[in-house]
Amino acid sequence: MTEDKAEERGMRVFRAGSEPVLFELHEEGHSSFSLPKPGVPPVAAEKVLPRHLVREQAAGLPELSEPEVIRHFTRLSSLNYHVDLGMYPLGSCTMKYNPKVNEDVAALPGFKDAHPLAPEESSQGALELMYLLGRALTAITGMSEFCLHPAAGAHGELTGMLLAAAYHRSRGNKKKSVIIPDSAHGTNPASVRLAGFEAVEVKSSENGCLSARTLREAVNDGVGALMLTNPNTLGLFEEEVLELADIIHSVDGLLYLDGANMNALLGVAKPAHMGFDIVHLNLHKTFSTPHGGGGPGAGPVGVAEKLRPFLPIPRVVKTDRGYALHHDEPASIGRVHSFYGNFGVMVKAYAYILSLGAEGLEAVTRESILNANYLKSLLVPYFDIPFDRPCMHEFVLSGKRLKASGVRTLDVAKRLLDYGFHAPTVYFPLIVEEALMIEPTETETKRDLDGFAEAMKAIVKEAAASPELLKQAPVAAPVGRLDEARAARELRLKW
Ligand SMILES: *Cc1c(COP(=O)(O)O)cnc(C)c1O
Repeated sequence: MTEDKAEERGMRVFRAGSEPVLFELHEEGHSSFSLPKPGVPPVAAEKVLPRHLVREQAAGLPELSEPEVIRHFTRLSSLNYHVDLGMYPLGSCTMKYNPKVNEDVAALPGFKDAHPLAPEESSQGALELMYLLGRALTAITGMSEFCLHPAAGAHGELTGMLLAAAYHRSRGNKKKSVIIPDSAHGTNPASVRLAGFEAVEVKSSENGCLSARTLREAVNDGVGALMLTNPNTLGLFEEEVLELADIIHSVDGLLYLDGANMNALLGVAKPAHMGFDIVHLNLHKTFSTPHGGGGPGAGPVGVAEKLRPFLPIPRVVKTDRGYALHHDEPASIGRVHSFYGNFGVMVKAYAYILSLGAEGLEAVTRESILNANYLKSLLVPYFDIPFDRPCMHEFVLSGKRLKASGVRTLDVAKRLLDYGFHAPTVYFPLIVEEALMIEPTETETKRDLDGFAEAMKAIVKEAAASPELLKQAPVAAPVGRLDEARAARELRLKW
């Protein structure tokens, strides 16, 4: 029976995008619970409450049975594309599958119910976990010490830049600017400005990397730091990183790593060995916490020995009497988050690290790189690739060839939804025309990668044969193409 026929016959049909709100589903007398008759006589509200607190009319809450409520929310939960549904190759964001064991561990009552104001003596387990996670991150990166407080990568960047400023102040350095390559994530210059520095952009070379020559020309005594992403947002390893480190250190500048791409280094290479002085990690990306949509994250910051005194407070320390919070650090930049940051994310990251172990973490890196290179090889015949050499965990294609038939990268992204895949990151990095930035991650199988490549090939064919079709995409999603700027500002919660 078609949906229209079913509706004609008075059956309720749920179409994606037509889910009613709970108030519309209301039917008088439906209820999700039944209570035994009270053994005492009822008392009117007016008798026990002050008059102004008594409603004049009933609240008008929807009446629904438990299955109606559960099914309503289950249907809503499946309207959006998500990582548990299929491949989500959003470049730079590392939308890997998040193992459910992380959630189980984070939901243990001792962690879930921990209160940030509880005394240290009764928070030993939570403190120990923070201490050990910090230790694990220092082992993974080679840095001296980590602060777990920042709530996201961008917050870690700001914290890192405040540390750089404190370092230079302590040495009487007059530093004004921070150098950032043109392929960098937009949060980099924003963090630099917020910390009071000027952001100076330098151009990537033909090979997609920052060359020592370019940096040498840009560097002077007023430069406080170089902010580098490695592998960079083109998915390429910065091959001259050791030379770049020497150059920035020659003016007592600091080398900062935007570690959002740590998924390509875990267990294989340590930022400290490349000369980085400050590193932020994105626990929600590399260490598997569900993210996107503004959910909680964590952007811990690790530093080299010379920057330790400036780290935020409080710090978790190990004493003979157990774990403690240490506040008395005169050179510290102070607090960067209320309490200790997003603790639940830390638990998930620690569970992830322990469940994989050193070998597992290395396998993450090797398999994410293998997956990216395999997928790249399948797609290279159909797209332009600005920097065609082996990539790390992601790669960037250009959709500029499709422009001849009037098709844009945005149309490809929207059409992918009809094929059951989330779109890659588009129009970033800014230095690639019609960019498609693809990060398959290690959690996808060969079958998923092949399926994605087949969908991309089919879309390229459609672009030549019927470009107008692509302009209408998506046609199979709960909603069609939205005015993205307006959709973010004028929410329509019902239609
Ligand atoms: C995601 C990302 C950031 C910002 O991290 P958030 O956790 O989203 O604040 C910074 N740089 C790069 C390269 C990223 O991919």
